Amino acid sequence: EAEVALVGRSNVGKSTLMRELTGHSFDTGGKPGVTREPNHYDWGPEDFVITDLPGFGFMSGVHEDHREQIKTNIVRYLEEYAEHVLVAILVVDGKSVIDIIDRHSGPDEIPYDVEMFHFLRDLGIPTVVAVNKMDKVDDRDERLDDLCDRLGLLPPWKQWQETIAPISAKNGTIDPLNETVRDHLHEQKRDDL
Ligand code: GDP
Repeated sequence: EAEVALVGRSNVGKSTLMRELTGHSFDTGGKPGVTREPNHYDWGPEDFVITDLPGFGFMSGVHEDHREQIKTNIVRYLEEYAEHVLVAILVVDGKSVIDIIDRHSGPDEIPYDVEMFHFLRDLGIPTVVAVNKMDKVDDRDERLDDLCDRLGLLPPWKQWQETIAPISAKNGTIDPLNETVRDHLHEQKRDDL
């Protein structure tokens, strides 16, 4: 079955976004790292399932081994189902993503978000970065340009509207994401004809 996969660090607003996308209500603020298995939900008007993969990265109270295990499971899942995954949505927190990426960039270290973005693209999965919590960001264009730069996409971000979707899930401002995902889905349907 055709599927849209949602990935992202914990606390970026994935559950909030899922609720907006599907109309279902999800347990937000539960114990982090508990959802280890992917969850599947129907996505409204489009004939696709949306898969919520567990949050990854640092979570307070979650042991590092467990964190690594969660990440391994996500990677395995995506490798196994890459053919069915028509679009991946990588959710990041617009307020903190640049600081987090820069803090974890170094000669021996690739930040999770950057790694995941390239991993998805290497699998041939069209990937949209949903930059969430934009309601908390003042210097919007600058922030999005910086993000492009960190992801290896040449700024300005406006050139990448197929890839970068600034949203505020909490405020229900998710049109840029809906449009971008829909475009990708329809493009692929055309390719299948
Ligand atoms: P998850 O761990 O990725 O599933 O994150 P949640 O959906 O539980 O959200 C984590 C926190 O971010 C919660 O306090 C949400 O209310 C908050 N949040 C989610 N989306 C937004 C947003 O668009 N703007 C703001 N300001 N806060 C948000």
